[in-house]
Amino acid sequence: MTDHAQLLLVEDDENLSLLLRRRLERAGYVVRTAGTIAEARAAARVMPWDLVLLDRGLPDGDGFELCRELRAASPHGYIILLTGESSDEAKLDGFRSGADDYVTKPFLHEELFARIRAGIRIVTLQRALLESNRRLEELSLTDGLTALRNRRAFDEELAAAHELARRYDRPLSLAIIDVDHFKGMNDTHGHAAGDAVLRAVAQLIAGSTRATDFVARIGGEEFAVLLPETGLFDAMQFAEKIRASVAAATIRTGEVAHRITVSVGIASEPHTSITNATCLFEAADQALYRAKQNGRNRVELERRRAPRKVAAAARPLQIATS
Ligand code: GH3
Ligand code: MG
Ligand code: MG
Ligand code: MG
Repeated sequence: MTDHAQLLLVEDDENLSLLLRRRLERAGYVVRTAGTIAEARAAARVMPWDLVLLDRGLPDGDGFELCRELRAASPHGYIILLTGESSDEAKLDGFRSGADDYVTKPFLHEELFARIRAGIRIVTLQRALLESNRRLEELSLTDGLTALRNRRAFDEELAAAHELARRYDRPLSLAIIDVDHFKGMNDTHGHAAGDAVLRAVAQLIAGSTRATDFVARIGGEEFAVLLPETGLFDAMQFAEKIRASVAAATIRTGEVAHRITVSVGIASEPHTSITNATCLFEAADQALYRAKQNGRNRVELERRRAPRKVAAAARPLQIATS
């Protein structure tokens, strides 16, 4: 149950330190000892401790001071003060310094060990809980089919990226990518083949992006890529690269070789009429709609009335890609 928990024993009484260390090690704990605050600080920096047994009277200072430091550095570690000071005031001070438990000397070894076991149990449970929360959070942001980020993650990222771009006056582009005539491909080859094609498209898109880009599956056969630090012209080249790579790919499911295409809509900031994240999304979505209307397998850009800063805006607004 001790699971090789790591204990830091801070005690200047060498005999007590040695005795405790032996017993703790026999009980299966990994123990490191320190006789001063300075030694303890150095040890805590390199050792991922689970529990600290901390004496108050130490040669180079007050153990309560160290307690405060350790608590600040490690909100989830367990700290037991082990001290000769038994007044109520001292105990309350100890708890105010961040200690989880307070044991006065002389103490019953059995009792101290019971308290250590309880502390380790709490630390272990807490760690498992944090890890499980982290995994759930990760799952709640991940698309199960493609392992890309999902719509929820995208919405959060879009809002954050828009905020950042506006605050620092940096460009930001968004590409929305939709598979053409995907319903027909599902109807002809079945849903499982459709799923495999979506996974392949996801890989093609993810393989064309940079580490700073954000790729998500935001709907059935619809993907989005956020391109920070990217203006309209570069976004257009990126979208064209994706479009061409999907159009050139042969995706195999079983015996069948599928050829598919995607349509892409792009919008970029800064833009006079794009004032929030929703505007950016709508502009890209409208561009995608036009890409569909204009024949699919093509890239379309948002319409600009009064462009600002972005040189590419002075060019013709639509590009025919097929
Ligand atoms: P368009 O070129 O206009 O985009 O035509 P489309 O057929 O791709 O568009 P539509 O919106 O009519 O159909 C999208 C289809 O995508 C319908 C649905 O069966 C399919 N689809 C949505 N989600 C999934 C999924 O998770 N797996 C599979 N296999 N198919 C999906
Ligand atoms: Mg002491
Ligand atoms: Mg579609
Ligand atoms: Mg769609």
